[in-house]
Amino acid sequence: MRKPIIAGNWKMYKTLSEAKTFVEEIKGLAPDYEKVDTVICAPALFLEQLTQELSGSNIHVGAQNMHYENEGAYTGEVSPVQLADIGVDYVILGHSERRQYFNETDDGVNKKVLAAFANSLTPIVCVGETLDERETGNTTSKVEGQVEKGLANLTEDQVKQTVIAYEPIWAIGTGKTATSEDANEVCGAIRSKVESLFGQQVADAVRIQYGGSVKPENIRELLAMEHIDGALVGGASLQSSSFLKLLEAGANV
Ligand code: PGA
Repeated sequence: MRKPIIAGNWKMYKTLSEAKTFVEEIKGLAPDYEKVDTVICAPALFLEQLTQELSGSNIHVGAQNMHYENEGAYTGEVSPVQLADIGVDYVILGHSERRQYFNETDDGVNKKVLAAFANSLTPIVCVGETLDERETGNTTSKVEGQVEKGLANLTEDQVKQTVIAYEPIWAIGTGKTATSEDANEVCGAIRSKVESLFGQQVADAVRIQYGGSVKPENIRELLAMEHIDGALVGGASLQSSSFLKLLEAGANV
C-alpha cells in the first residue's frame, strides 16, 4: 500500500509569529510518520525557522517553488542548494498559480524537478485542467501532457519518489471540489500514463495527491479512492485544528 501524504500549502499567508504558533499547536500531535507523511509548505522566509522547530518531529518542511539553477545572478530567486542546506525536504513545483501568474512552463517545471532530485529534495509536481479544458473534454490530454513533460528524463527510481498533485484549477480556492469519482478517474489516468512511460512497478509506487478545496468534511471520501494517495491543501491547512483533522484522516485510510 502507498503511504498517504498530506501537504499543507500556505501560499502567501501568515506572519512569522503566526507560523510559529501554528507549529507549536500541531508539533506533538501530528500522527506517526509510519502512517502518514506530513508536509508543511511555507513561504520561503519561514523555512529555516520551521525546519529548526520541527527537527525530530513527524512533520516535514517544504518550499512552494524554487529556481532550477544551484546558484547564479537570479535576483529574488531561491535555489535548491539553499533549500536543502537549511533542511527542507519537499518542494511544490508547477503549481497552477505559478503557471498562471509567473509564466511557468512544463519545460521549466521539468528542469526544476531534475534539480530537486540532484539536491535530495522530493518534488510535488502539480498538474490540472482549467474549467474550459474540462468542459471541452480535454482534461485527460492536458494532465497526461503535463505529466509526460514534467517527468521527462527522470530515472524510474526518481519517478517512484515523485509526488504528483492533481489539482483541477477550477477547484482551487473556490470551494468547488471535484467529486471523488471524477478525481479518482483523472488520478487513475495519470497512473496509467506513468505506467506507459516508466512501467507498472513505478506506476504502482508513485503517489498521487488530489488538491482543490480539500477540507476535513470531504477528505475521507477522497482518500478512500483507489488512485488518491493524499491531498495538497491550501485554505484548510491554515488553521491548526483543521490541518490536524486532515492528518488524522490521512493516518486512518
Ligand atoms: P485550496 O488550494 O485547498 O485552497 O483549494 C489547494 C492548492 O492550491 O494547492
